[in-house]
Amino acid sequence: MAADPDEDDDQVEWVSYSNAGYGSSEEGLWEDVVPIESPSEEIDWYDENPIEGESMIEWDAPPCPAPLGIAYLARIGCCDFCLHRLGGRRTDAVGAEGGAALRKEAERRDPEIALQGSTVECPTCENLLEDVNNVSKIISAACDGLQFSTMQIGVHIPKDLIEEEDRIRSRYGAPGSKPLKASFVEEVQVNTSDMVKDIEFVRERPDLMVLIDTLTLRVDVDVRPVFLYGRYRKLSRGIPQTRWPCRACRGRDGGCESCESTGLQYPDSVQDLIGKPVAEQMQAQDTAFHGMGREDIDVRCLGQGRPFVLEVKSPKKRTPEFASLLKLIEENADGRVEIDSLRISDRKEVARIKQTRSEKSYTIRFKPESLEDPDKACNDILALSGTMIEQQTPKRVSHRRADRNRVRKVVSVDRVDVVGDEIEMTLRCEAGTYIKELVHSDEGRTTPSVTSIIGVPCEVVWLDVEDVHAD
Ligand SMILES: [Zn+2]
Ligand SMILES: [Zn+2]
Repeated sequence: MAADPDEDDDQVEWVSYSNAGYGSSEEGLWEDVVPIESPSEEIDWYDENPIEGESMIEWDAPPCPAPLGIAYLARIGCCDFCLHRLGGRRTDAVGAEGGAALRKEAERRDPEIALQGSTVECPTCENLLEDVNNVSKIISAACDGLQFSTMQIGVHIPKDLIEEEDRIRSRYGAPGSKPLKASFVEEVQVNTSDMVKDIEFVRERPDLMVLIDTLTLRVDVDVRPVFLYGRYRKLSRGIPQTRWPCRACRGRDGGCESCESTGLQYPDSVQDLIGKPVAEQMQAQDTAFHGMGREDIDVRCLGQGRPFVLEVKSPKKRTPEFASLLKLIEENADGRVEIDSLRISDRKEVARIKQTRSEKSYTIRFKPESLEDPDKACNDILALSGTMIEQQTPKRVSHRRADRNRVRKVVSVDRVDVVGDEIEMTLRCEAGTYIKELVHSDEGRTTPSVTSIIGVPCEVVWLDVEDVHAD
């Protein structure tokens, strides 16, 4: 399976979405929204929120922290939390308690305020702050049983509320008042910290991403993947690098008769031989496998092995016990696949190993149709060392790769031996060289080739990657 091509985009989109809650302004998510300041807008709002004694409201109130500004916000029904948030006054108490103090002060000056503001929904948060405790409880429940240390909270607030809040805040709020979204996120963080121990709130690369939809009070907790780096040796032929879906049923859930309900064309893969024990120990949902290139299913991979990053999806445990994990993998793979070590990695390294183009060494065994002068054949093949070859996209991969010509370097031919009626050669090539084609010529698509050099058709018997010269 290839890396999820959509995932990075999702991440970017999510991050821009969630970060909109942090800044000192609401720019970002709503920056394309043109603020509506038509008079009809205010009248609409006014009609929806009839306030008794409206004629007494001071429409020309100055912005907070002027007492008249605070009185105005209290009259239009701002809740204690928003009074504190927009009031711009230092009080002994914080949050809603601080707002209550400001309200009392305003009521002492003007007793009418108590009658006016108490019955309506807060126009600058629609009483959203009453939900903070509920939201924190949902988050806390969702975190139960998860190992994590960092969390990022994103919040989605309906656009019309954001616009209305922005309008009132910029007109009557104290200069520098925090927007609703940032304040709400902060409240949720403080509240959640009381319920869940040792959370650090971060703005990027969290262990848990929490997205709150304030309209439905839906809370989504996304457990971010853990990445592990290692190098694998594949010691057995017939194992694909990644899961290979059944050709008959295309790997549908539950599989079919021909794949014995596995959904897989081949029961084993390097991905699962390594990934299954990892997923088990880290209690993860699934894995994705990112290799530094891949060898064909019938090709072994030896030496130091091929670098890879295993993406462990939705793990309940984030810190693997490496020693016992390596042992589990060894038992599970039973000599078919080996790894010497694993370490924690990250998404950046996935990009790095996907982009790295490393030379590789191979041993290939092939059978020439006939071999009249073995010594001359060996010497002629050795002369390929250090030459450039031209390869047209091989027939066998033409259905998934663009048809084009590539020039590749045969870095060295280190050994050519005749073994019975077969020849074995060890060589080192530039990244992206098709080795089987270099031998059999792919009907003339690769030139020169061993076949063209010794003048008889050659059939590949087996191929090993001796080493991947990386890192
Ligand atoms: Zn409010
Ligand atoms: Zn099937």
